[in-house]
Amino acid sequence: MLRLNDILDKVTAYYPEANLDVLRKAYIYSAKVHGGQVRKSGEPYLTHPLAVAFILAELELDEASVATGLLHDTVEDTLATTEEIESLFGKDIAALVDGVTKLAQIHFQNREEKLAENFRKMLIAMSQDIRVLLVKLADRLHNMRTLEHMPSDKQKRIARETMDIYAPLANRLGISWVKVELEDLSFRYIKPLDYGDLSDKLGKTQKEREKFIEDVTAEIRSVLKRAGLPEFDVSGRPKHLWSVFKKMVSKSIPFEEVHDLIAFRIIVDNVGQCYETLGHIHSIWRPIPGRFKDYVAMPKPNGYKSLHTTVIGPKAERIEIQIRTDEMHHVAESGIAAHWSYKEAGSVATIVKGNDSFAWLRQLMNWQRELVDPNEFIDSVKVDLFADEVYVFTPGGDVLELPRGATAVDFAFAIHTQVGETCIGAKVNGRLIPLKTELRNGDTIEILTRKGQKPNKDWLEFVKTTRARTKIRAYLRMLERERSLQIGTELLEKEFKRYGASLSKFVKSKAIEKAYEGTKHGSAEDVIIHVGYGKMAAQAVAQKVLPDDVFRKPQEKPPTKSRLGQLIDRVARRSSSGVIIDGIEDMLVHYARCCYPVKGDAIIGFVTRGRGLTIHRRDCQKIHQLDPERRITVNWDNKVDLSRPMSIRVVSDDREGMLSELSNAFTKNKMNISQAICKSRGDGTAVNTFKCGVISLDQLQKVVKALEGVKGVRSVERAKNVEPQ
Ligand code: MN
Repeated sequence: MLRLNDILDKVTAYYPEANLDVLRKAYIYSAKVHGGQVRKSGEPYLTHPLAVAFILAELELDEASVATGLLHDTVEDTLATTEEIESLFGKDIAALVDGVTKLAQIHFQNREEKLAENFRKMLIAMSQDIRVLLVKLADRLHNMRTLEHMPSDKQKRIARETMDIYAPLANRLGISWVKVELEDLSFRYIKPLDYGDLSDKLGKTQKEREKFIEDVTAEIRSVLKRAGLPEFDVSGRPKHLWSVFKKMVSKSIPFEEVHDLIAFRIIVDNVGQCYETLGHIHSIWRPIPGRFKDYVAMPKPNGYKSLHTTVIGPKAERIEIQIRTDEMHHVAESGIAAHWSYKEAGSVATIVKGNDSFAWLRQLMNWQRELVDPNEFIDSVKVDLFADEVYVFTPGGDVLELPRGATAVDFAFAIHTQVGETCIGAKVNGRLIPLKTELRNGDTIEILTRKGQKPNKDWLEFVKTTRARTKIRAYLRMLERERSLQIGTELLEKEFKRYGASLSKFVKSKAIEKAYEGTKHGSAEDVIIHVGYGKMAAQAVAQKVLPDDVFRKPQEKPPTKSRLGQLIDRVARRSSSGVIIDGIEDMLVHYARCCYPVKGDAIIGFVTRGRGLTIHRRDCQKIHQLDPERRITVNWDNKVDLSRPMSIRVVSDDREGMLSELSNAFTKNKMNISQAICKSRGDGTAVNTFKCGVISLDQLQKVVKALEGVKGVRSVERAKNVEPQ
């Protein structure tokens, strides 16, 4: 068991001037309040805070962080209060303990909304003090090390959460040893069989591997000595299980075919020697093209620097070699903790400022301020935290880091909002490419812009970065408001004119605000926009705003259909969405991807933030999760024939000629099939899935009837998903 002295020794080793009294005091206090508590393992509870504090000392953090490790569960699990901690240990430590306590209340759940909120809280906690997160990581690491004492359902949940959230965070913070350990511990509980199998196999070949490591390191040593390199260190160690397993899965190869199981590392004195060493290695062993990576000239976003190469080594084995200096090695292992020295204050602002490695953290914090919808936020964080990166160049030679799959539009927005908003095309390595082309490592990108150009809503289909998505949505929101304001104004002007009244006078005299006082409509503009959206009728507004005697005496007949029609035509001809919302056709309309409505289905609309209207089927399960306030009545526009995607699933006898008879049923009813998949179930039946374009429910019913008429058909149904399964 760990003792306080182990921690004190560790801290003194890297920070001789540390105030050890505060650690002793924290230990005594923690022992007192946790007294009598035991962990699931049966050990005294105190073993846990001690272990957490020790991990924090291994990260070489300041005494306040280490003390927080000792105290981190006191407010959560005992009668201790933040006030008491503050009076005993001061504001700094009290704030850290408070931060960790708040984080502890976050349980990551499957429900997306909760997850989003939790991420926000986590970031807010981080933005106050990054040390809170480091303590939390240490806490999680020790809990994972002792997870075997938990009931098995909890083990799985906690391991999953660790794999999804904490390991990527440790990686993003650059603390690789914590990341590696968290991944392997999670792997053990998430896939116990694979884990057991793999560690068995590694165990069996251990002797061989040790011999191999010995041989290779000896050969590297002798080469570098002969070359006259004064001081260096060579080592080799097996890669961690999770990374081996990931490789087996991604390449679908068995364990026996994973060759580079061992990573060799050469640590030299300075940057020049890194490249020199690389030269010597390449002169004895042939490098594999495309595997050399220069993270020294182009560090990873978490600050990682190193040269990587893979060569054909002795016995024609592929071996992977990393070359770096001592300092690079320290950063590689400790990440943000290495940048952050005990001499500085621990706020994110000070660490992140002026340190390009943590630009992502800075951006993340900015985005969370810009985004309105927590789900939008979770999408973004997932993408930005967990995706791999590509590195691309500006024409001026600056490097930009973007998530994998990012496009020219992402690049444009990364340069500047205005460049993004006005971009009309892009050149990659001098050649014109479509805007949605995915960028590749090393591409040089030039963005072509035109003044007055506006973002296109189709871009949302392919952009990958939060920044681009946020900016495009913000623009569309603004556009939609403007349009609704324009439509609402025109409709209300007409309506008011019928009573001889002028809308603008009522707007100026604030009569509209007065009439709507106490309702959720705070301003005249808001009322007008609601009319424009179709959520309020112009007549209802007139009735509420106009004095009774004026409202009772219309001077004009209601506008004839054709006049209203003209008005709508004028503002709405630009697009035809296929649905009508109280006579207004011009809204951004999306069809929900959960229920895929077609004309004729009973439908309902949801006004989304900034993305117009989403149309669901009335019997869609998803609508129960949506805010009823945003529901509006919509009808199909009978004048428009829109082809909507759908999948139809037919279970039939498995016999020759079936497919052609089935597809005939579609053709006869003029329905296009874009994809047909036939799967024999091996019991004499087959499942046929047709992806098709449906214009109306009517047409669908005809096709279903025709399909049911085919001999050997057992059932026909509208599939839940459009993608054939
Ligand atoms: Mn704890």
